[in-house]
Formats: sequence, C-alpha cells, structure tokens
Amino acid sequence: SFSTMSAAADVPVAGLPGTNQERSFFMVKPDAVQRGLVSEIIGRFEKRGYKIVAMKMVTPSRELIEAHYDDLRSRPFFEGLCKYMSSGEAPVVAFVVEGKGIIKVGRDMIGVTDPLKSAPGTIRGDTGVSIGMNSIHGSDGVEGAASEIPLWFSQDEIANWNKTADKWIYE
Ligand code: ADP
Repeated sequence: SFSTMSAAADVPVAGLPGTNQERSFFMVKPDAVQRGLVSEIIGRFEKRGYKIVAMKMVTPSRELIEAHYDDLRSRPFFEGLCKYMSSGEAPVVAFVVEGKGIIKVGRDMIGVTDPLKSAPGTIRGDTGVSIGMNSIHGSDGVEGAASEIPLWFSQDEIANWNKTADKWIYE
C-alpha cells in the first residue's frame, strides 16, 4: 500500500528563508482566472526551476480577503479591492512556491503594482493595464510569506516532496 509520508525532509510550513527551501505565497487573481491565464502564470515559476509545494482553487470569503490584505485597511482602494477579490464571479488559484531566493525573485517576476509601470517580461507587464486587476499576488517579504502561507494553507495541504530535477537546477 502507498504511504502518505512525504519523501523530502520536513520543511516548516513557512519555509526556510535564505536557503533553497525558502517559500513564498502567490495567488492568481480573479481577473487572470477569468482570462484563462492560470497556466501561463504558474508555468513561469515551473520553468524557472522552482518547486510548487501547494496549490488550490478557492472562492475566497470576504473575511479571508480582509485578513490577507489587513495592512491595507486604511487605503482608499481597500473596499474595491475586497469586492473584486471576493466577488465570487471567479475563484483565485492560491499556490506556494519553494526555492532559492523565491521571495525576491517572485516579486521581480511579477513586476511592480501598476502593470503600466511593469517591464515587459514580467507577469504584470505582459498581462494587464489596470492597477487593481493586476493578475497576481506575491508575498512582499519574509514576514508577508510567513503570515500568508499559513493563512491560506493548512500543514496537510502542503506537499513536502522531493524534486529529483533539483540536482539539475541547484549546483
Ligand atoms: P502589491 O500587490 O504589488 O504588493 P499592494 O500590496 O500595495 O501591491 O496592493 C495590493 C493590491 O491592491 C494590488 O495588487 C492591487 O490589486 C490593489 N491596489 C493597489 N493600489 C491600488 C490603487 N491605487 N487602486 C486600486 N487598486 C490598488
């Protein structure tokens, strides 16, 4: 019979920043799900050599979105942001990526908040023109990743798998 034990050594849910087991939280936002960009976006992380350790489609509640964007409560766009993210008109795809430098590199791959100011080649720079509907969320630092990963995923939703291709990715 098959074991449910993971093959890889256990890594804390929030990852190990500064190592090859650093983790960051990402989310394909509802606009990008509606536009059929899920594989385009997640594929970029796979191509880069990163390991996806968790992924799920969720129709987030207002409460979850408010908790996720808690530090933006005082901003004028907060209400609109929560409405768009939790409208139920499209789900989001939440995922956790593991690998060397993923927190910073993930932000570089995404671009800046405003897609119009994001360089071509970045996810936002290649997919959108609106500051609110900007395709993807990515944790903005070690602290953000450490709080967002457990907010969206329970321990048993994270796969501590051993990626054998890592020996062709990490020297
Ligand atoms: P980022 O997602 O780049 O880390 P923020 O944390 O500042 O950016 O903002 C969270 C999200 O709120 C953005 O990704 C975007 O969807 C939305 N947002 C930010 N600024 C604005 C704005 N001026 N008007 C409308 N929506 C905004």
